[in-house]
Amino acid sequence: MRKLIWGIVEFREHQLPQYAAQFRELAGGQSPDTLFIACADSRVVPNLLVSTDPGELFTMRNVGNLVPPATSDGLSTGDLSEASAIEYAVTILKVANIVVCGHSGCGAMKAVLAAGALDDAPNLAAWLHHAAPAASRLKQEAALPAGLKPYDRLSQLNVLTQLEHLLTYPIVRAAVDGGALRLSGWWFDIATGDMYTHRPGTGSFEVIDRQLADRLIAGE
Ligand SMILES: [Zn+2]
Repeated sequence: MRKLIWGIVEFREHQLPQYAAQFRELAGGQSPDTLFIACADSRVVPNLLVSTDPGELFTMRNVGNLVPPATSDGLSTGDLSEASAIEYAVTILKVANIVVCGHSGCGAMKAVLAAGALDDAPNLAAWLHHAAPAASRLKQEAALPAGLKPYDRLSQLNVLTQLEHLLTYPIVRAAVDGGALRLSGWWFDIATGDMYTHRPGTGSFEVIDRQLADRLIAGE
Protein backbone atom coordinates (compact mmCIF):
# COMPACT_ATOMS: atom_id res chain seq x y z
CA MET A 1 0.00 0.00 0.00
CA ARG A 2 2.91 2.31 0.75
CA LYS A 3 3.96 2.03 -2.91
CA LEU A 4 0.46 2.89 -4.12
CA ILE A 5 0.10 5.92 -1.85
CA TRP A 6 3.45 7.31 -2.90
CA GLY A 7 2.41 6.53 -6.45
CA ILE A 8 -0.53 8.91 -6.08
CA VAL A 9 1.81 11.66 -4.96
CA GLU A 10 4.15 10.89 -7.84
CA PHE A 11 1.20 11.09 -10.25
CA ARG A 12 -0.05 14.40 -8.79
CA GLU A 13 3.34 16.02 -8.87
CA HIS A 14 4.93 14.63 -12.03
CA GLN A 15 2.42 12.94 -14.38
CA LEU A 16 -0.74 14.96 -13.90
CA PRO A 17 0.57 18.18 -15.46
CA GLN A 18 0.86 16.49 -18.87
CA TYR A 19 -2.58 14.86 -18.56
CA ALA A 20 -4.42 17.77 -16.95
CA ALA A 21 -5.97 19.19 -20.12
CA GLN A 22 -6.96 15.71 -21.31
CA PHE A 23 -8.67 14.89 -18.02
CA ARG A 24 -10.51 18.22 -17.98
CA GLU A 25 -11.93 17.43 -21.41
CA LEU A 26 -12.73 13.82 -20.48
CA ALA A 27 -14.62 14.97 -17.39
CA GLY A 28 -17.47 15.78 -19.77
CA GLY A 29 -17.78 12.22 -21.07
CA GLN A 30 -16.09 9.31 -22.78
CA SER A 31 -16.25 7.91 -26.31
CA PRO A 32 -13.83 4.97 -26.34
CA ASP A 33 -13.41 3.08 -29.59
CA THR A 34 -12.93 -0.34 -28.06
CA LEU A 35 -14.23 -2.66 -25.36
CA PHE A 36 -11.10 -4.49 -24.21
CA ILE A 37 -11.76 -7.74 -22.32
CA ALA A 38 -8.70 -8.97 -20.46
CA CYS A 39 -7.68 -11.18 -17.57
CA ALA A 40 -7.31 -9.64 -14.12
CA ASP A 41 -3.69 -10.84 -14.09
CA SER A 42 -1.37 -8.07 -12.82
CA ARG A 43 1.07 -8.64 -15.69
CA VAL A 44 -1.49 -7.79 -18.36
CA VAL A 45 -1.72 -3.99 -18.61
CA PRO A 46 -4.10 -3.12 -21.47
CA ASN A 47 -3.42 0.61 -21.83
CA LEU A 48 0.34 0.04 -21.75
CA LEU A 49 0.25 -2.78 -24.29
CA VAL A 50 -1.68 -0.84 -26.92
CA SER A 51 -0.26 2.60 -26.09
CA THR A 52 -3.60 4.18 -25.33
CA ASP A 53 -4.46 7.27 -23.30
CA PRO A 54 -7.25 7.79 -20.77
CA GLY A 55 -10.63 7.72 -22.52
CA GLU A 56 -9.58 5.36 -25.31
CA LEU A 57 -10.27 1.88 -23.89
CA PHE A 58 -13.41 0.69 -22.11
CA THR A 59 -11.93 -2.18 -20.16
CA MET A 60 -13.54 -5.22 -18.57
CA ARG A 61 -11.27 -7.51 -16.62
CA ASN A 62 -11.97 -10.75 -14.82
CA VAL A 63 -10.26 -14.02 -13.98
CA GLY A 64 -9.56 -15.75 -17.31
CA ASN A 65 -11.01 -13.02 -19.58
CA LEU A 66 -14.31 -14.91 -19.71
CA VAL A 67 -17.68 -13.93 -21.18
CA PRO A 68 -20.61 -15.96 -19.85
CA PRO A 69 -22.80 -16.78 -22.84
CA ALA A 70 -26.30 -15.34 -23.14
CA THR A 71 -29.64 -17.06 -23.53
CA SER A 72 -31.62 -16.47 -26.73
CA ASP A 73 -33.30 -13.45 -25.12
CA GLY A 74 -29.96 -11.85 -24.37
CA LEU A 75 -29.75 -12.53 -20.64
CA SER A 76 -26.43 -13.69 -19.23
CA THR A 77 -26.14 -17.29 -18.05
CA GLY A 78 -23.49 -16.14 -15.59
CA ASP A 79 -22.44 -12.99 -13.80
CA LEU A 80 -24.44 -9.88 -14.72
CA SER A 81 -21.32 -7.75 -14.48
CA GLU A 82 -19.87 -8.94 -17.78
CA ALA A 83 -23.19 -8.71 -19.62
CA SER A 84 -23.72 -5.19 -18.28
CA ALA A 85 -20.32 -4.05 -19.50
CA ILE A 86 -21.04 -5.52 -22.94
CA GLU A 87 -24.46 -3.84 -23.13
CA TYR A 88 -23.08 -0.49 -21.98
CA ALA A 89 -20.20 -0.64 -24.46
CA VAL A 90 -22.30 -1.74 -27.45
CA THR A 91 -25.59 0.10 -26.96
CA ILE A 92 -24.55 3.29 -25.15
CA LEU A 93 -20.91 3.90 -26.02
CA LYS A 94 -21.35 2.26 -29.44
CA VAL A 95 -17.80 0.95 -29.55
CA ALA A 96 -16.54 -0.15 -32.96
CA ASN A 97 -14.40 -2.99 -31.62
CA ILE A 98 -14.40 -5.65 -28.96
CA VAL A 99 -11.08 -7.33 -28.22
CA VAL A 100 -10.82 -10.47 -26.10
CA CYS A 101 -7.22 -10.73 -24.91
CA GLY A 102 -5.79 -13.85 -23.29
CA HIS A 103 -2.22 -14.28 -22.10
CA SER A 104 0.58 -16.76 -21.42
CA GLY A 105 0.96 -18.40 -18.03
CA CYS A 106 -2.67 -17.67 -17.13
CA GLY A 107 -3.47 -19.05 -13.66
CA ALA A 108 -7.12 -19.49 -14.63
CA MET A 109 -6.18 -21.71 -17.57
CA LYS A 110 -3.78 -23.73 -15.41
CA ALA A 111 -6.62 -24.24 -12.92
CA VAL A 112 -8.96 -25.42 -15.69
CA LEU A 113 -6.42 -28.12 -16.54
CA ALA A 114 -5.70 -29.12 -12.93
CA ALA A 115 -8.75 -31.06 -11.79
CA GLY A 116 -9.49 -30.61 -8.10
CA ALA A 117 -7.13 -27.64 -7.76
CA LEU A 118 -9.97 -25.34 -6.73
CA ASP A 119 -11.60 -27.37 -3.96
CA ASP A 120 -11.20 -24.38 -1.60
CA ALA A 121 -12.46 -21.84 -4.17
CA PRO A 122 -15.99 -22.93 -5.15
CA ASN A 123 -16.91 -19.60 -6.74
CA LEU A 124 -13.82 -19.60 -8.91
CA ALA A 125 -14.41 -23.24 -9.87
CA ALA A 126 -17.96 -22.40 -10.98
CA TRP A 127 -16.79 -19.29 -12.86
CA LEU A 128 -14.19 -21.26 -14.81
CA HIS A 129 -16.92 -23.48 -16.25
CA HIS A 130 -17.26 -20.74 -18.88
CA ALA A 131 -13.87 -21.92 -20.18
CA ALA A 132 -14.94 -25.58 -20.41
CA PRO A 133 -15.62 -25.48 -24.18
CA ALA A 134 -12.02 -24.36 -24.70
CA ALA A 135 -10.76 -27.33 -22.66
CA SER A 136 -12.82 -29.62 -24.91
CA ARG A 137 -11.25 -28.03 -27.99
CA LEU A 138 -7.79 -28.57 -26.55
CA LYS A 139 -8.51 -32.29 -26.10
CA GLN A 140 -9.63 -32.54 -29.73
CA GLU A 141 -6.46 -30.97 -31.14
CA ALA A 142 -4.05 -33.45 -32.69
CA ALA A 143 -0.90 -31.59 -31.59
CA LEU A 144 0.14 -28.42 -29.81
CA PRO A 145 1.60 -25.57 -31.88
CA ALA A 146 5.41 -25.58 -31.55
CA GLY A 147 6.68 -24.02 -28.36
CA LEU A 148 3.32 -23.71 -26.64
CA LYS A 149 2.54 -25.29 -23.27
CA PRO A 150 -0.91 -26.93 -22.97
CA TYR A 151 -2.21 -24.13 -20.71
CA ASP A 152 -1.01 -21.50 -23.20
CA ARG A 153 -2.76 -23.22 -26.10
CA LEU A 154 -5.82 -23.50 -23.86
CA SER A 155 -5.60 -19.75 -23.29
CA GLN A 156 -5.63 -19.15 -27.05
CA LEU A 157 -8.56 -21.52 -27.57
CA ASN A 158 -10.29 -19.81 -24.67
CA VAL A 159 -10.06 -16.50 -26.54
CA LEU A 160 -11.90 -18.11 -29.47
CA THR A 161 -14.51 -19.58 -27.14
CA GLN A 162 -15.18 -16.21 -25.52
CA LEU A 163 -15.54 -14.55 -28.95
CA GLU A 164 -18.25 -17.12 -29.68
CA HIS A 165 -19.87 -16.37 -26.33
CA LEU A 166 -19.93 -12.67 -27.26
CA LEU A 167 -21.92 -13.52 -30.38
CA THR A 168 -24.62 -15.18 -28.25
CA TYR A 169 -25.66 -11.65 -27.19
CA PRO A 170 -28.22 -10.49 -29.74
CA ILE A 171 -27.00 -6.87 -29.55
CA VAL A 172 -23.46 -7.99 -30.36
CA ARG A 173 -24.59 -10.28 -33.17
CA ALA A 174 -26.71 -7.54 -34.72
CA ALA A 175 -23.92 -4.95 -34.55
CA VAL A 176 -21.40 -7.39 -36.07
CA ASP A 177 -23.79 -8.44 -38.82
CA GLY A 178 -24.56 -4.79 -39.55
CA GLY A 179 -20.87 -3.95 -39.92
CA ALA A 180 -20.83 -1.57 -36.95
CA LEU A 181 -18.79 -3.81 -34.67
CA ARG A 182 -15.70 -5.91 -35.20
CA LEU A 183 -14.51 -8.68 -32.83
CA SER A 184 -10.82 -9.53 -32.43
CA GLY A 185 -9.04 -12.26 -30.50
CA TRP A 186 -5.62 -11.38 -29.14
CA TRP A 187 -3.10 -13.23 -26.99
CA PHE A 188 -0.22 -11.66 -25.06
CA ASP A 189 3.05 -13.51 -24.44
CA ILE A 190 4.38 -12.11 -21.17
CA ALA A 191 7.96 -13.36 -21.57
CA THR A 192 8.52 -11.70 -24.96
CA GLY A 193 6.03 -8.84 -24.78
CA ASP A 194 4.61 -9.93 -28.14
CA MET A 195 0.90 -9.49 -28.85
CA TYR A 196 -0.62 -12.10 -31.18
CA THR A 197 -3.87 -11.91 -33.12
CA HIS A 198 -6.09 -14.78 -34.17
CA ARG A 199 -6.19 -15.19 -37.91
CA PRO A 200 -9.86 -15.68 -38.81
CA GLY A 201 -10.65 -19.01 -40.42
CA THR A 202 -7.70 -20.66 -38.71
CA GLY A 203 -6.98 -21.71 -35.16
CA SER A 204 -3.62 -20.00 -35.29
CA PHE A 205 -2.31 -16.78 -33.79
CA GLU A 206 0.26 -14.50 -35.43
CA VAL A 207 2.50 -11.83 -33.87
CA ILE A 208 1.32 -8.29 -34.55
CA ASP A 209 4.50 -6.68 -35.91
CA ARG A 210 4.72 -3.75 -38.31
CA GLN A 211 4.07 -5.91 -41.38
CA LEU A 212 1.01 -7.62 -39.94
CA ALA A 213 -0.23 -4.29 -38.58
CA ASP A 214 -0.19 -2.88 -42.13
CA ARG A 215 -2.21 -5.87 -43.36
CA LEU A 216 -4.67 -5.70 -40.49
CA ILE A 217 -5.27 -1.99 -41.00
CA ALA A 218 -5.58 -2.40 -44.77
CA GLY A 219 -8.22 -5.06 -44.21
CA GLU A 220 -10.41 -2.72 -42.20
ZN1 LIG B 1 -4.99 -14.86 -16.66
